[in-house]
Amino acid sequence: MGMREIAVVGAGQSGLHLALALQADGHRVTVVAERTPEQIRAGRITSSQAMFGPARAIERAAGLALWDGVAPDTRALHTVVGVDAKPVLTIDAQPAAAAHSVDQRVKTAAWLELFEERGGRVEYRRLEPDGLAALAARHELTVVAAGRGALGSVFARDDARSRFDAPQRTLACLYLNGVGTPADLPSTAGDPARIHIVAGAGELVLQPALTLSGPCVILLWEAVPGGPLDVFGDGPDPATALARSLDLIRWHLPWEYEALSDAEPTDAGATLFGAVTPIVRHPVARPTPDGGPVLGMADTLVLNDPITAQGANNATRCAALHAAAVTEHGDGPFDEAWMRGVFAAYWEQARHTVDFTAAMLGPLPDHIGWAFAEAAARPEVAARLAGTYEDPTDFSRWLGSPEATARYLTGSAAPGGTAGPSV
Ligand SMILES: Cc1cc2nc3c(=O)[nH]c(=O)nc-3n(C[C@H](O)[C@H](O)[C@H](O)COP(=O)(O)OP(=O)(O)OC[C@H]3O[C@@H](n4cnc5c(N)ncnc54)[C@H](O)[C@@H]3O)c2cc1C
Repeated sequence: MGMREIAVVGAGQSGLHLALALQADGHRVTVVAERTPEQIRAGRITSSQAMFGPARAIERAAGLALWDGVAPDTRALHTVVGVDAKPVLTIDAQPAAAAHSVDQRVKTAAWLELFEERGGRVEYRRLEPDGLAALAARHELTVVAAGRGALGSVFARDDARSRFDAPQRTLACLYLNGVGTPADLPSTAGDPARIHIVAGAGELVLQPALTLSGPCVILLWEAVPGGPLDVFGDGPDPATALARSLDLIRWHLPWEYEALSDAEPTDAGATLFGAVTPIVRHPVARPTPDGGPVLGMADTLVLNDPITAQGANNATRCAALHAAAVTEHGDGPFDEAWMRGVFAAYWEQARHTVDFTAAMLGPLPDHIGWAFAEAAARPEVAARLAGTYEDPTDFSRWLGSPEATARYLTGSAAPGGTAGPSV
């Protein structure tokens, strides 16, 4: 089986996992990275990057789980629905395996160094669209893993699969030290991720994580555009972002206020503001009409709002799938048909995240609201909800339609359990 010459554009979650996996399989890999490890560490945060058990298992199998036992494990999800500053529904669930979050500055800088230490070639530059053809001409396969960067626009939008023309949330992310735990949380499962739904206005997620200086808590606002949580559009400095967050928490989520009253930003780069327009793109681009095709992957092709915390998990799935497809292909040509086949296999997973995320972004459909209410009362329903974050392919089986939800909720009702509405 031949050693192949492969270029990967983008040193992020998917690109570096793919590059390291292909390198381990004996291929000659070039990574195009716009920043050095030092620049990554000195820069801003890029995500809140919660990784659930199945994606962590893929990293472990690839020898890339360098932060197991270092980053704090998250063994429980504590979800609160708040209406008019009062908690009206609480769901406590334990995923089957622990989740965790490693600051992508920590993770991608270390992976990039590892790739170079193992003899991998890195070209440090920002690749512009007009440089893609030359790169593709020098490699048997060129993969674009540029995340939500502008380079993705070389891949045409798939209008049939893209649901939105505009962001459904504005995002404000802030890494904090000194965050406590509200006194009324169940104390059995360690520090949970706390997911707060502010009815009509958006969400706040608080997630234990590992950053450059050690453990921290990541705060992520998901604000309905133009609503009361959408107050970070001017990109404030970390101290101002924290002050505004505390104001919002005091007003909308007062049960969290005390736990955050001593919080401080972790560092000068501890903020990220913006918005994501969810999109699905066609997987293959031809930089020049007579040149070879290039293949996109992960966020470059299937970009979701982070409300369901799936992008990094899917990037991992995508990288493992692409690495296996390359190696299994032996000496075969990396032509357009092969590329479309690889993406089709990825889409079979990724489409469930697109459905799951679209449902969580909109006004919550009645049947999902019903599932939430049942999850608050029945541990097995709560566990299935947590399991859907670990494996979103389960979404369609029980939350994809009112019928599927009714079938599960009524069929599995414990004696004396809540009866569902007729559908
Ligand atoms: C606020 C926020 C919170 C999130 N929270 C979660 C979460 O909790 N769980 C989860 O699973 N996902 C989460 N995500 C999504 C997750 O971060 C992404 O889906 C994931 O990182 C995608 O991996 P990727 O490899 O496609 O892109 P990225 O990890 O973004 O990597 C792309 C890389 O390409 C580089 N690049 C871009 N353009 C060029 C160019 N022209 N030349 C050279 N290099 C280039 C970039 O510098 C970057 O290193 C979140 C995203 C955001 C914005």
